[in-house]
Order: sequence, then structure tokens, then C-alpha cells
Amino acid sequence: MSHLESIEAAALAAGAAAGDFAASSAAARARLLRALADALEAGRESLVPLADRETGLGLPRLGGELDRTAFQLRGFAAQLERGAAHRVEDDPAVAGAPPAGRPRLTRVRVPLGPVAMFAASNFPFAFSVLGGDTASALAAGCPVVVKAHPAHPMLSRRTAELAQRVALQQAWPEGVFQFVEGASIETGVRLVQAPGIAAVAFTGSFRGGMALADVAARRPRPIPFFGELGSTNPLIVLPALLARDAEGPAATLAQSICQGSGQFCTSPGVIVVPVGSEGDVFVSALAKALCAQSPHRMLTEGIRGAFDRGVSAWAESPSVHALLAPPHRDAAVPGPFLGEVAANDFVADGSLHEEVFGPGALVVRVGSHNQAIEVLQAIGGSLTVTLWGVEVEGEAARALVRAASRIAGRVLFAGVPTGVAVTGAQQHGGPFPASTQPWSTSVGYAAMDRFLRPVALQDAPAWVLARQGVPC
Ligand code: NAP
Repeated sequence: MSHLESIEAAALAAGAAAGDFAASSAAARARLLRALADALEAGRESLVPLADRETGLGLPRLGGELDRTAFQLRGFAAQLERGAAHRVEDDPAVAGAPPAGRPRLTRVRVPLGPVAMFAASNFPFAFSVLGGDTASALAAGCPVVVKAHPAHPMLSRRTAELAQRVALQQAWPEGVFQFVEGASIETGVRLVQAPGIAAVAFTGSFRGGMALADVAARRPRPIPFFGELGSTNPLIVLPALLARDAEGPAATLAQSICQGSGQFCTSPGVIVVPVGSEGDVFVSALAKALCAQSPHRMLTEGIRGAFDRGVSAWAESPSVHALLAPPHRDAAVPGPFLGEVAANDFVADGSLHEEVFGPGALVVRVGSHNQAIEVLQAIGGSLTVTLWGVEVEGEAARALVRAASRIAGRVLFAGVPTGVAVTGAQQHGGPFPASTQPWSTSVGYAAMDRFLRPVALQDAPAWVLARQGVPC
């Protein structure tokens, strides 16, 4: 079988398993998710060092990420056990003529079908083979076809073998979990085009995501594309915060910018600071704290190259003043970068609104709350916005919270945006380009809702209703 034929075969196998998997009980799928979590933890001793060899992210971070991934799988299992996948809304029949009179309507949810899942490079466990997209799709009752990320091929294979072993032990059809690889654009394109695929989940670059979204939209029958494409995560430092402390928050922020060498979709890339002496103190404390950080090597040469090009473009922009020297391209590890730009120049230059993935950020100096709002409006879509210093209610504070909520999936009033808790209230998405589907989340238990489609059952017979939302 050729490589491309094997992709089609994986999608076909997933399609063949989709009906029975959709009709499986929530309890059975919860058992699958719990067994996957157990197997992942049992493989820790070999998986974590392998992940470190392939990504350089370090044993402590990767061990923690494995814990998060197992926690996430068990969290979705618990959601299933609470009935989250099979929620039913029932409107009894009302006698009489419409609009008041009506038949009995029972709204249930059915799984979309096989999900093509593009593993991310930057979270080899939590956003990869058994990460949140896979866990939420399986929880919903959708088979998955995972496209491995070429930045950690061995780990992807080992994790996939583990998943297939668990599925086999529990006697699930093999189509429930399928795995494809091949570091080529054609692999992803063929997967998205495969007739059996019903939805796509993607985390990665703007360019890759847009290309694949286009493929999904051009199919004879277009399918939903859940893409998380990139984010600048503006953080606004307000005078109220600066009046209290500059050094502590600057040190916290420097650490967040360099965490994982800046390879986080929630890394703060735009720091909005008031003009004036208090703002100056904060900016120099931030530059100093960044100098003290030591980022590690980046995930791939491609990602490193993109960071170097992004920082060069910033540094060469006539409106950007470099506060730290751009990193040497031939150094093994990237140095942190910080540039400064006036608000008007930032707003006017669309190229400065794009994500630069890595340990760098732009400080935007603003003269008023309104200018900070203009900066947010120029960015337009972000996974997060952080507001430091809006503890006291007032017109300006309300306007900032409103502007932040309009462009972000998550608004923080304390702390830093890196670190995304897995919980029911979490929202990891946001207006484009943060997400291609701004009402959806790719982290937290609501992620399962992406893969469930409502169906209204009208005057359904008793045996259908007795299934209590479990699809036939
Ligand atoms: P990527 O280049 O977007 O790759 C992600 C996946 O999409 C890979 O499986 C890749 O396939 C596939 N792909 C990329 N372009 C494609 C295209 N035109 N057609 C079909 N498939 C395509 O992401 P990456 O390798 O992880 O990192 C590159 C950049 O992505 C980073 O510099 C950063 O800007 C961004 N990124 C963002 C996030 C985020 O959370 N938003 C996370 C990671 C990376 P192959 O590699 O197998 O060809």
C-alpha cells in the first residue's frame, strides 16, 4: 500500500467504526479514556526521556505535561460519567394550533464522525497524539485519525502504539483510533480530503492552518475546521499596577515570555505600557529581567528560522526601537528579544500584529486608556488578553474589559497567560486568527461540544426516547 493509500485506508477504517462508536455508552468510552490515561502513566519512564530527546523541552516540563494529559483524559471520562455527552432537552407536545401548539421535540446530540487531528509541535503530549483534541473527540464518540507532528516522530509512534493496544484490549474496532504520519503537505491535504473525515482539529501556524481550512472548505461536502492558529496575547499594564510595583510584575512577565523558549500559543507577545516615568521603570525592569532568562533550543529548525525572521523584521522596522539586541542566528539557543514601539505606529502597521513564535515581545507605549483600546482593536483576535490594574470599577476599567472581551477567548485580571487550566469553565479560542471557530474551545471540557451536532427528534417513539440521548 502506498503512503497516500494508507491515509485513505485510515480514514475508511475510522468511517467504518464511526456508527458503532457513536452508539456506544458514555460509560464504555469513559473506560477507554481512563485506560489510555493509565497506559500513558505506565509508559512514563520511557516516554518522557524520549520526548526530551526529540523536543529538548526538559524532563520536568515533559513529566508535568504527561500528568496534564492523563488528567485531561480522566477529566473527560468524568464528564462522560456525569452525562455531558448525551444531554437531552425535551419539550412536551402542546395541543392546539401553532405557534403555541406543537409536537413533542427532543433535542439530542450526535457525534460528527471521524475527526482528523493534527498534532501540535509544541506540546508533545498535551496537544499531540493523546492530547486534548483526541480526548475530546473520543469522549464525543468520534473516531480519530491522528496526523503525527514530524517534530517528535518516535514519541508519536510509541504513543499511538499504546493507544492502539488499549483500544484492542477493550475490543473496540481498530478504526476508533488511527494514526498517520509523513512530513509532507500532501499527507495533511489528503487526510482532510478523505471522504470519511467529518471534521478537522488543528493547532499550528497561521499559514498551515489557513491552507488546510481552505482544503476543508473546498471538499465536495465541506467539513468543520477547528483551527487554533496563533495569538499575540496582549498584556496591558495599567497605572494602578505601576503605582504598586514594577520589578515584581516585570520579573514574572519575563519568565512567562521565555517559558518553553516562548513556544506557547499563549505566550505574551504584546506588552502595552503607559508612557511616562513609571512606565519607563517597568520597561527597563522587563528588559533587565529578560536578559537574565536562558531560553533552551527551539523545537525545530523551521520554528527557529521563523523566530529569527520575525525578530529581524521587528528590529528592522523603522518604528521599532530594539531594547535588547536581536539574537544571533547561528547561536544554538535563541536569545530573548524586546522591542518598543509607539501606539500609533503599532496600530498603523499590520505586520506588527502578527505572532512571532518564540521568546520575544513588543512593548507598545500608550498615552491613554483609549489608545490601549485602539491597540486591542488593531490586534482583533487573540487567545488571551491580560489586564493588570483594573481592580477598581470605573468607566475606563469597564471600557478596557469590554474591549478585551471583544477580541479574546480568555481575559485575565491577574497572573500571566501561559498555563491553561483544564476545567469546565476554560475557554481556549477567540476571534480569528486565534481560532477559526470563535465559539469553540480546544482546551477544557467544552472542547467535546465541537464534535457533537444537535438533532431534534420530533414525536419520537418510546424506545428512541428510552435511549436518553445515546445515538442509535
Ligand atoms: P505548522 O507548520 O503549521 O505544522 C502543523 C501541521 O500542519 C504539521 O502536521 C504540518 O505538516 C501541517 N501543515 C503545515 N502547513 C501545511 C500546509 N500548507 N498544508 C498541509 N499541511 C500543512 O506548525 P509547526 O510546525 O508546529 O510550527 C510552525 C509555526 O507554527 C511556528 O513558528 C508558530 O508560528 C506556529 N505554531 C503555533 C502554535 C499555536 O499554538 N498557535 C503552536 C505551534 C506552532 P508537516 O510538518 O508534516 O508537513
